[in-house]
Amino acid sequence: MTARHDRFIAMKLICLLLLWGVISGRAQDAAIQRSVDSLLSMMTLEEKCGQLNQIPANWKDGVSYLTDEGKEMVRRGQVGSLLNAAGASSIREIQRLTVEESRLGIPLIIGVDIIHGSRTIFPVPLAEASSWDPELVQKSARVAAVEASAAGIHWTFAPMVDIARDPRWGRIVEGSGEDPYLGSVMAAARVRGFQGTSLADPTSILACAKHFAAYGGAEAGRDYNIVDMSERTLREIYLPPFKAALDAGAGSFMSSFNEIAGVPSTGSKFLMTDVLRGEWGFKGFVVSDWTAIGELIPHGVAANRAEAGALAINAGVDIDMVSKIYMDELPALVRSGKVSPGTVDEAVRRVLRAKFRLGLFTDPYRGASTERERKSILSVDHVKAAREIGQRSIILLKNEESLLPISKQTKTIAVIGPLADNKDEPLGPWHAGGKAADVVTVLEGIKSQVSPQTRVLYVKGCEIEGDSGARFVEATLLAKQADVAIVALGESERMSGEAASRSNIDLPGVQRELLKQVLSTGTPTVLVLMNGRPLTIAWEAAHTPAILETWFLGVQTGNAIADVLFGDVNPSGKLPVSFPRSVGQVPIYYNYKSTGRPFDELNKYTSKYLDVTNTPLYPFGYGLSYTTFSYSELKLSSQKIPPGSDVSVTIRVTNTGRRKGEEIVQLYVRDVVASVTRPVKELKGFQRVTLDPGQQKTVTFTLKPDQLAFYGLDMKRVVEPGMFKVYVGGNSVDVVESEFELTDH
Ligand code: BGC
Repeated sequence: MTARHDRFIAMKLICLLLLWGVISGRAQDAAIQRSVDSLLSMMTLEEKCGQLNQIPANWKDGVSYLTDEGKEMVRRGQVGSLLNAAGASSIREIQRLTVEESRLGIPLIIGVDIIHGSRTIFPVPLAEASSWDPELVQKSARVAAVEASAAGIHWTFAPMVDIARDPRWGRIVEGSGEDPYLGSVMAAARVRGFQGTSLADPTSILACAKHFAAYGGAEAGRDYNIVDMSERTLREIYLPPFKAALDAGAGSFMSSFNEIAGVPSTGSKFLMTDVLRGEWGFKGFVVSDWTAIGELIPHGVAANRAEAGALAINAGVDIDMVSKIYMDELPALVRSGKVSPGTVDEAVRRVLRAKFRLGLFTDPYRGASTERERKSILSVDHVKAAREIGQRSIILLKNEESLLPISKQTKTIAVIGPLADNKDEPLGPWHAGGKAADVVTVLEGIKSQVSPQTRVLYVKGCEIEGDSGARFVEATLLAKQADVAIVALGESERMSGEAASRSNIDLPGVQRELLKQVLSTGTPTVLVLMNGRPLTIAWEAAHTPAILETWFLGVQTGNAIADVLFGDVNPSGKLPVSFPRSVGQVPIYYNYKSTGRPFDELNKYTSKYLDVTNTPLYPFGYGLSYTTFSYSELKLSSQKIPPGSDVSVTIRVTNTGRRKGEEIVQLYVRDVVASVTRPVKELKGFQRVTLDPGQQKTVTFTLKPDQLAFYGLDMKRVVEPGMFKVYVGGNSVDVVESEFELTDH
C-alpha cells in the first residue's frame, strides 16, 4: 500500500507539472516515459494484457454500469479501457472501483463515439464538411469535448476521416465526403477541437482517427465489404486525411474492418507499423474496431483466436475492442514465443502514455461531476454554436426565379412532409447523448420566425417509408390554400451510418409521390431535404423550383433552416460530395482520370453510358447563394515556374447580385502530362470571402511545390516538370482557367 501511495504521489506531481506547463516538450515526454517504465516494471504479464483489453459497459434505464463479471475483471486488472459508458456519476463509480480495488489502481480510459456532439447534437459530419469552415468545425468538436468530458468521457472514437466516393455506403454521413484535401482540413480541425491545446486540460478528450484505412472504399458500397485498390489510390486519396489528423496531434487511431487487397487492416503490419509508425512517426496507440480482431477468423487469415491475436498485436494493433482475445490469449502467446514480450510492453507503454497525458494519474475522474455536466450541456453558447454551423452547413441546390428567401409576412405557408415536424431523425446517426426533445423541428423553426399574421398549416402527408398515400389528398388541400409550400423529405437517421448501405438511393417510400401531388397544385414549393448521403433526385431537381440540402442538422435543425428560408442567413454551403444522376453512375467523383477515350458526346466509342451522361447532377463544390458571384482576372505569379518555387494565384471575385453573400472560392490543379495518369482536377485550396452587393475582392492562393507532387512509378513522391492547368471557381465545374509550365531548372 505504501509503495502504491508513493508511486501515486510521484505520478501526480508529474501530471501537475504537465498541467501547469512547468515542464514542456521533450522534458515532459521523458518524465512521462520514466513513470510509464516504472509502472510497467511492477506489472505482471496478465496485468499488461489487461491494459490492452477494452470491454463495453452495460446499460439499464439510461444508466451505464458494469456487470459483476465486468467488475471482477476490473478488480483483477484485466481491463484497460471501457467503451460506451456515460454520465458523470456512473463513470465516477466505475473509475473508483478501478483505482481503489485493483492491485495497481491504473485508471481506465473511457471511450465513446462522440461523433457530432455529446448532448448538444451538431450537424452530422458530412453536413459540417459542407460548411467548408474549419473554424466552426473545430468549435463544434470543442463543444462536444467540453460536454463529453464533463460527463466523464476521456476519449472519442472520432474523427471519422474515411474518404467516400460511393453514396450507397451509409457511413458516408460520418465523414467529410469525397475529397482528400477538404477531408484533411476537416480531420485536422476536429482533432484540434477535441484535444484542445493540451490533453491534460480536463475539458479535452483524446481523438481517434478512424477507420484506418480505406474503409470507405468498400466494394459496391456495401458496409464491411472488401477493398481492392492500388497503393497509389490508397496513398493519394484515402490516406491524406489520416496523415492530417496525425499532424494535428491525434493521440489514437482505429483500424478498419475491411481488407485491402487480401490483407485485413486489423492484421496489416504494412498499415499499422510500416506506414503509421515507420513513415509517419505516430507515437500514440491503435485500437481495433469492435470485435475486429476476432473477425480475422471469418476473414480467413487466422484459424483461431490465438492466431488472430498474434496477427493483430504483431501488426501493431495495441487495444482489442471487445473480442477479449488479448486478455485470453496474449499471455500464452508471449510464453510460447509467438509474440515477443517487447511487443506487448510497447503496446502497454503507448496506452499508459495516453493515460498520463490525459492527467488520469492526477485525477482519475478528470473533474467530471453531475454539477459540471449539468452546467455544460445545452448551454446557451453551445446551442448557439450548433445553430451557427447548422446555418453554414445548408446547401442551396436550386432557386428558380429567386423563390427563396420567402417573406416572413407571407399570408399562408403550408409545411408538409414526414420530416417537417419530426424530432427524432434530425439528430442523425451516432447522436451520443442527444435527445429528441432537444430538437427544434422545421415546423417549430418556421412558426417562431413568421409574422403574427402568417398562417402556418401543417400536415405530415406520408411516412418516410412504406405508406399507402392515403394522406395525399389532405396535403394537396393544404398546399392549395397556401402561398408557398415547404416540403421536408428525406431519410430516417437509421438509413445512414453503420450497417446502413442502400442499393437504391432515391427518396424512400412514397415521398416523391407526395412531392408530385404538392407540385401539381401549382403552389410555389421549396423542397427541404434531410438525408445522410447524396440521393438520386434527378426528378425532384427537374420539377421543384427550390431545393435546400440540409443533411441532418442536429438540435437546431428548425432554427437553422428557418434562418435560411427567410433570408436572415444567406446560404453558403458547398457540396463535399457529388450527387449522381442515377445510382448506376456510382462511384462518381470530380477528381476522376481522363482515360484514353475521354467522354465525347458525338463519339460512341468513348468512356460513357448509353443511357445517362457522365456528369453528376450536382458536382463536388457546388452550392448557390441568394446573390451571384463572378470570377475574373485569374493571374499567376508567372507562366514559367522554376522547380521548388511557389506559384501565386490571384482571382477577382465580384458579388454581382443584390444581397450580401459569402462565397467559397475553390482552387483546382491538373498536372497535364506526367509519368503516371493524374486526375482531371484536384482541389488544392479554398477561401471564404464575404462581399456586399457590387463589391469585389482579390483572393490570393499560394501553391506550394509539394502540392504539385504525386506518387510516381516507383511509388516515391515526385514533382515532375511540365504543364499544369489552374482552375478557380465556385464549384469543381464552373471555373476559369489558366496554366503554367513548371520548368526543369
Ligand atoms: C464502429 C466504430 C465505432 C465502434 C465503437 C464500431 O462498430 O465501426 O466506428 O467507433 O463500433 O462504437
